[in-house]
Amino acid sequence: MADTANIRKFESAQDYVKRFIVQEEIDKYLPGGRHFIDTAKIDSLIAGMDANPAADPAKVREIIAKSEETCETLLPEETAELMKVTDPALFEEMRAAADRIKHKVYDNRIVVFAPLYMSNLCVNGCRYCGFREGNAQQKRRVLTMDELKEELDVLAGRIGHKRLIAVYGEHPSTSTEYIAETIETCYAHQVPAPRTGAKVGIRRVNVNAAPLPVEDLKVLRSVGIGTFQVFQETYNRKLYEQMHPAWSVKGNYDWRTTCFHRCMEAGVDDVGLGVLYGLCDWRYELLATIMHARDLERWFNIGPHTLSFPRLEPASGTKVPEESPWLIDDDTFARILVIARLSVPYTGMIVTARESAASRNRVLDHGMTQLDCSSNIAIKGYSDFANEAHQEKERQQFMLGDNRSIDEMVRYLASRGTITSFCTAGYRCGRTGGCIMDALKTGREGKFCKINAVLTFREWLDDFASGETRAIGEKLIEKELAGIKEWLPKFYPTVMKQYEATCRGERDLFF
Ligand code: SAM
Ligand code: SF4
Repeated sequence: MADTANIRKFESAQDYVKRFIVQEEIDKYLPGGRHFIDTAKIDSLIAGMDANPAADPAKVREIIAKSEETCETLLPEETAELMKVTDPALFEEMRAAADRIKHKVYDNRIVVFAPLYMSNLCVNGCRYCGFREGNAQQKRRVLTMDELKEELDVLAGRIGHKRLIAVYGEHPSTSTEYIAETIETCYAHQVPAPRTGAKVGIRRVNVNAAPLPVEDLKVLRSVGIGTFQVFQETYNRKLYEQMHPAWSVKGNYDWRTTCFHRCMEAGVDDVGLGVLYGLCDWRYELLATIMHARDLERWFNIGPHTLSFPRLEPASGTKVPEESPWLIDDDTFARILVIARLSVPYTGMIVTARESAASRNRVLDHGMTQLDCSSNIAIKGYSDFANEAHQEKERQQFMLGDNRSIDEMVRYLASRGTITSFCTAGYRCGRTGGCIMDALKTGREGKFCKINAVLTFREWLDDFASGETRAIGEKLIEKELAGIKEWLPKFYPTVMKQYEATCRGERDLFF
């Protein structure tokens, strides 16, 4: 059981709203009251792009080369130059470079995960979200630990996921104690795999929840949290205030923007940034994201472990997702991904099933590294609905666009030469935060990952895959093993020892 003695307790939702934010933990990271999101600079860069929209191809090529060679985060001015590119041929050069960088850092693998919604009670009033306080159309519930185990039976035991993003509303009933207990329950729950009977379970629990104070973050660290994700929604303070009422906890822009600084202070050094695209000018959001990443690097020498790219989707009881003036089309979405990959070259990039299957297929070679599949975001949706594609607007935060099963997704990826990775070794070997930054930038992490991807792919094929998917997966594994033999001839016999043990039914072997 997690030690929660040092964290503050709240008597009611009102008490929580009044007292939750710790002002000193904001001020510490905004010295002199100056915010690291430099709005004057963003405004001037956008005005400059509007006044002089033609990109300079020579400059763009220089920026691409810098990104590829150094793997360092670009300057906002450099990102702004990339944003001006409209010529299809020059954009194709950018896309191809984004894909090469992705391969250098993450190889030809895509990591898969599943969202697991724990609760939809919320004290906040975000205007675009189905969970917001006062939305009478939403059916509310908080998973009990027994219900969570039923969800895990499906996620780990029937689908074969190893990696979750656990999602929570913000409410005292889902306090840090509750979050910690759910993480511990996820790690402890082991079930037999359908084809082999091998014991399988969840190996990495990432969390998407509201910003927390340092002491609470230390509790989550103590129970083995993976990445802590908090989406900024919009970095534009004025629009942020329009979307998040001042009476709500989330209405405090500075509490949210300083959340990852507190994470680092607490030792939670894998952090996931994101913006809800469609609330504001995408250029504003991406430039601000870069400033956020650079400020984390400046303070802690560690940038974002991942960037997420959620787009506004229809939700119960709100018209914002249909009526926002800043909604983006699929072409712009694809551009955002390429520019983000070039701007923060070392980071993981997540595109969720909010997107349609066509949109996700299209951006697979635009630098993305992670996606979810077989997803159900209704609270208790995995165990209640035998049909994985079933959705109910009143039980979920928004509607999903890509309902492909994991078997379909793995097969599709394999058919284009991409290996699905279920690897979770990094954080269990201490390869997180600063330790992983250098390995990513030099491409070293990609090599470990390649081997671990093969081992975990082998496990999943044996434990869960349909015959058709196994057949295509086998061919890919042969090719991958041949590749490993070529790069690492001396290490290859060691790899094969682990591989053969995995084929015999041993589980969770990794480098
Ligand atoms: N309640 C916490 C918070 O807001 O920080 C945890 C995360 S919330 C359950 C998960 C994320 O879903 C939000 O940060 C937001 O970006 C996204 N979201 C909310 N409404 C959405 C919508 N209509 N379409 C797409 N994403 C949405
Ligand atoms: Fe609550 Fe998060 Fe939805 Fe806002 S986005 S209403 S904080 S669940």
